Amino acid sequence: MEINEKSYAYGASKSSIREIAAYGAQRKAEIGAENVYDFSLGNPSVPAPDEVRQSIEKSLQLPPVELHSYTPAAGLPFVRKALADHLNKEYGESYEAGDLYLTCGAAASLTITFHALCNPGDEVIVIAPYFPEYKVFIENAGATCVEVMADPETFQVDCEAVKRAITPKTKAVVINSPNNPIGTVYSRKTLEYLAQVLSEAEGDICLISDEPYRKIVFGTEVPWVPDIYPNTVVCYSYSKSLSLPGERIGWVLVPNTNPNHDRLIPAVAGSGRSMGFVCAPALFQRVLADCVEVPSDVEAYARNREALTKGLSELGYEYIEPEGAFYLWVKSLEPDENAFFENCKKFELLPVPSDSFGCHGWIRVGYCVSYDTIVNSMPAWKKLKELYA
Ligand code: PLP
Repeated sequence: MEINEKSYAYGASKSSIREIAAYGAQRKAEIGAENVYDFSLGNPSVPAPDEVRQSIEKSLQLPPVELHSYTPAAGLPFVRKALADHLNKEYGESYEAGDLYLTCGAAASLTITFHALCNPGDEVIVIAPYFPEYKVFIENAGATCVEVMADPETFQVDCEAVKRAITPKTKAVVINSPNNPIGTVYSRKTLEYLAQVLSEAEGDICLISDEPYRKIVFGTEVPWVPDIYPNTVVCYSYSKSLSLPGERIGWVLVPNTNPNHDRLIPAVAGSGRSMGFVCAPALFQRVLADCVEVPSDVEAYARNREALTKGLSELGYEYIEPEGAFYLWVKSLEPDENAFFENCKKFELLPVPSDSFGCHGWIRVGYCVSYDTIVNSMPAWKKLKELYA
């Protein structure tokens, strides 16, 4: 039987991040979990806040038919209203429930947005290094993923390079700040420059702001992108901010200031419908209404960040100072990051080589692990450094 070759290829090729995590699980079983330093996955190590449990317990008092029913495709109106009210309070906007479409996490927010926007042959620009699933999602929407390298010094968006990459087929640019895999936060200046480039380009270019790490930030301003460039769609999830990655809950916001708002809102709904999402998980929609004001536990990540950066800098490693998210972008000790990774493995260190994110010469160290893992890994980082002495 002829099956879909593209789907086959995506399934057969696997994500290298998940393969490293599987290798880590195997090594833990072989030599004990405490002897393996797995920095591969972006799975939060901070528990979900107690308010989440309280909200679930409250919802369990509802009649089961009411609790477990389908919700409207875009989500329960009172939940969307609570989220819009929160955004209005936080960013001084005037959004309404109808501007939000609840999704099964940021991955769904992105696929829904790409399908809502793209026609076959369109191009979508991503800023490398980037979250590898972007390419899969963009291609699956019939568009081409165009990689533009970030500024190699600051890892901010290289706006002049974006300008050069724009063609009449460019439909959208995806940005992610705070950034996975770098940990950078795009400054207001960068975003204003990018907005200028996109506004001056011929045609109508949408800025897709992928923001699952918005709330995990260490004192740096994370500008509200629709205020800077109106033709923005925001993709959000609670996978990181409330530590709910397995529950699959997030949203797409088409701001009422977006010039294409009135056609994009039904396109987002139609996109979710065509991909069979039906509705976001009903129980966790209700959790959002109860937890909309609950802050992320940034303290734990800040402590990990401090221990990791201090430890690695004392050993002489070079890295980009992270301002948000929970990843450290460390310079590989040799040009081939995969050869370097093989040496990391000798000391049971499991970062992710940078080619997974579309660039060379670096590794990503996810510090959403226990504090002890970071502290206990330092002798291994020391031995690794000595190997290159
Ligand atoms: N975007 C980025 C930059 C991510 O790092 C992730 C997950 O790690 C996602 C999107 C997908 O998030 P979710 O688990 O909410 O689908």
